[in-house]
Amino acid sequence: MDFVTVVTSGETMVHFPSRTGMYATMCDMDGDDNDPSSQQKVVPTKLGAKVNCPHCIAIWEFCQQFSRNEISWREYNSRK
Ligand SMILES: [Zn+2]
Repeated sequence: MDFVTVVTSGETMVHFPSRTGMYATMCDMDGDDNDPSSQQKVVPTKLGAKVNCPHCIAIWEFCQQFSRNEISWREYNSRK
């Protein structure tokens, strides 16, 4: 799976990709959204790049405390 690299006002950040289809990144960045107030641009992710977005990392860290047994996989699989 490819990470998503977004340049925002000259700052480059590597993110986990969105899994819901609503945004470009897991932390809800729009990426190439046509919003004149946003300066976001998705660029190709460099080979070997690592996620450095603090929001994406915080989401990943938070989810580590839950086990697979705490998720209703039957409902999830029937709705995706
Ligand atoms: Zn992120």
